Amino acid sequence: MSQTNGFWKVVPPTAKIIAAISYVGFGLLMRFAMLPTDPDMRQWLDWQKDLFSAGVPLVVPLYVLVVGYVYGDAKRRGMRRVMWTILACLPYFVGVIAYFILRDPLPRPCPNCQTVVRAAFPFCPKCGTSVTRFCSQCRHAAEPTWAHCPYCGANLAAGLPTTAGPGE
Ligand SMILES: [Zn+2]
Ligand SMILES: [Zn+2]
Repeated sequence: MSQTNGFWKVVPPTAKIIAAISYVGFGLLMRFAMLPTDPDMRQWLDWQKDLFSAGVPLVVPLYVLVVGYVYGDAKRRGMRRVMWTILACLPYFVGVIAYFILRDPLPRPCPNCQTVVRAAFPFCPKCGTSVTRFCSQCRHAAEPTWAHCPYCGANLAAGLPTTAGPGE
């Protein structure tokens, strides 16, 4: 269940560019426009100013990258990416947290034609092949890790994924 390892692959390139530009922009703004005008902070030593203007603006690209991840991830899961991207912009990451709780499972490739099929679909929309594992006895959908059908007790290991599609 490690679906977070592809973080950098999921974040769209545009979000990475925006994150980099916003970081440099805010950093420079802080270092050369804010700090020299603040009555207290202008007394700081140079290295303190450098450290502060390098660290504090990190929040901005972090937010941009997380929102970008939600966009890319919702897209690959076939979810409403525009709605979720807007929600992800809400303060305190409330939309992001809601997204990680509510997001759909990752789509799977169809074993017959390789079309990416949403997790909610039991059949491939292109060729009609079954992408869900079924119990050969009672036809209930079975999860890939189940050894026995919890509905009728049939041994699932014996009869592996049954393809109910039109096939040949
Ligand atoms: Zn297919
Ligand atoms: Zn069964």
